[in-house]
Amino acid sequence: MLIAIDGPAGAGKSSVARAVAAALGVRWLDTGAMYRAVALLVARAGADPRDERACAAIAADARLDFDARGELSIDGHLAGRALRSREVGSIVSFVAEHPAVRASMVAKQRGFARAWKGLVAEGRDMTSVVFPDADHKFFLAASSAERARRRAAQENVLADPERVEEIRREIEQRDAIDTGRACSPLVRVPDAVYVDTDALSERAVIDTLLARIQGGP
Ligand code: C5P
Repeated sequence: MLIAIDGPAGAGKSSVARAVAAALGVRWLDTGAMYRAVALLVARAGADPRDERACAAIAADARLDFDARGELSIDGHLAGRALRSREVGSIVSFVAEHPAVRASMVAKQRGFARAWKGLVAEGRDMTSVVFPDADHKFFLAASSAERARRRAAQENVLADPERVEEIRREIEQRDAIDTGRACSPLVRVPDAVYVDTDALSERAVIDTLLARIQGGP
């Protein structure tokens, strides 16, 4: 069972993918965490996120694994909240633009799929490049305003309109890089089921995907 989910930053892919994987009894693969891990290593090494050779060497050497809960470890250490820092968020899209970095990550992602014999993979190029033959493909969408609102709620800053606006700008910047890059841009492939999540609760999105996968209404 191979399920591929793509969508822009903040569309709720991770929570939905994790819940769908749990319901199906398969593993969850958070490929954004992998690019974030490389970005974290680039920052720790003091390397330039726009230097493809430096980033590619770091990506090739990175020992990335996931535990049964889907949490990523780098060289055997759980990466945890460090992956979500603002510094990592601000450079990850530059690091993920490099074809040589992507080649390393795609090879690792396909390796996980072989080893785990089934998974729910989420990211930007799951349906288009990494797993084009997935059993089910989904594209989760939401407006940038709604995605900023959800992020702000997670960060407990909904009451601060300036911060919400700043989050919206950061999300739109990341969208522009992710959809505009030459190598594996975020695209909506024709055979992916499009789910507009703006007016849907997380539970409703999970149920929509499970209904498609399990052949329900
Ligand atoms: O999904 P998440 O927001 O954690 O992803 C962080 C960044 O990693 C994205 O903005 C994108 O630049 C990159 N990414 C990617 N391809 C993927 C997953 C993530 O380029 N499959």
